[in-house]
Amino acid sequence: MPKHIAFIGLGAMGFPMAKRLCQAGFHLDIVLHRHRQPVEELVGMGATLVDSVATACRNADVIISILPSDKEMAEVLLNADVRGSVRPGTILLEMTSGTPNMMAKVEDVYVDLGCHVLDAPVSGGTIGAANGSLTVMAGGNQEIIDKLSSIFDVLAKQVFTVGQVGDGKAIKAINQMLAGVHMVAASEAIRLAQHLHIDMERLKDVVAASSGASWMFLNKIDTVLARNFEPGFKLDLMKKDIRIALDEGKQIPLPITGLVHELYQLMSSQNGDEDFSVISTLAP
Ligand code: NDP
Repeated sequence: MPKHIAFIGLGAMGFPMAKRLCQAGFHLDIVLHRHRQPVEELVGMGATLVDSVATACRNADVIISILPSDKEMAEVLLNADVRGSVRPGTILLEMTSGTPNMMAKVEDVYVDLGCHVLDAPVSGGTIGAANGSLTVMAGGNQEIIDKLSSIFDVLAKQVFTVGQVGDGKAIKAINQMLAGVHMVAASEAIRLAQHLHIDMERLKDVVAASSGASWMFLNKIDTVLARNFEPGFKLDLMKKDIRIALDEGKQIPLPITGLVHELYQLMSSQNGDEDFSVISTLAP
């Protein structure tokens, strides 16, 4: 059973996931990037702060990475020192919502190094990360997925085996195009309800029992009405995910997705670091 984890990416998702793994008895090696607070808290829970990702990877049975995007995946995982430090047999559990293309590049490099690679983006948000109820979309070898069951038991409620390495990233992008479109649709519905002076609690009850219901409407209406846009999931990350879906589908028409991407793009420079539900305040 893997015990020693190099955990890279201690953000809104990675930090609560790393905390759960520490609490479950895994030994984590972590690195400081910009923010000290998650590092200090994890060290207080028994994690070891090391000087570089390469050092973290040197002793790891499993490397877990959950970084913002392709750019950071390349910077971290394709870095020459990191590549020089991983041992054959190490498992890379790559959980970033990146592109299938970047995942394929990373897979090629790590397979050449004698490592096993799982492509495993997640859904469930920061609440799912904190309470261990994430959905994992795992692309890769079932034997490797099974070897990581003790880690998945701590992090996830459901682990779907979705195909080859890269298929996890593709399915995550499809989920995100739906989530991004649903958030815009929910925003317009809430705006119309306000305009019509509808009782919001009644609206929630009715929609929850009707055909217009969506996870996004039911779960985001309260924070949208309270104008609480603490991330959560940053608008810029949603914009990135919808872009991945559009790029993967560039040979087919995806007009609604394209329009919704433009709306997120409009808000990106001012509101990119706020929760993506801030799209509800857009007045184009
Ligand atoms: P954040 O921006 O909150 O966190 C990113 C983390 O990566 C930060 O800890 C950052 O460190 C670290 N990081 C960035 N560059 C480096 C580097 N070169 N070396 C080491 N660490 C680095 O993102 P999230 O946690 O929200 O998202 C992570 C991934 O998960 C994204 O792909 C996102 O799309 C996906 N996701 C997010 C969800 C959410 O609800 N937030 C839900 C499901 C998936 P520092 O802050 O110190 O710069």
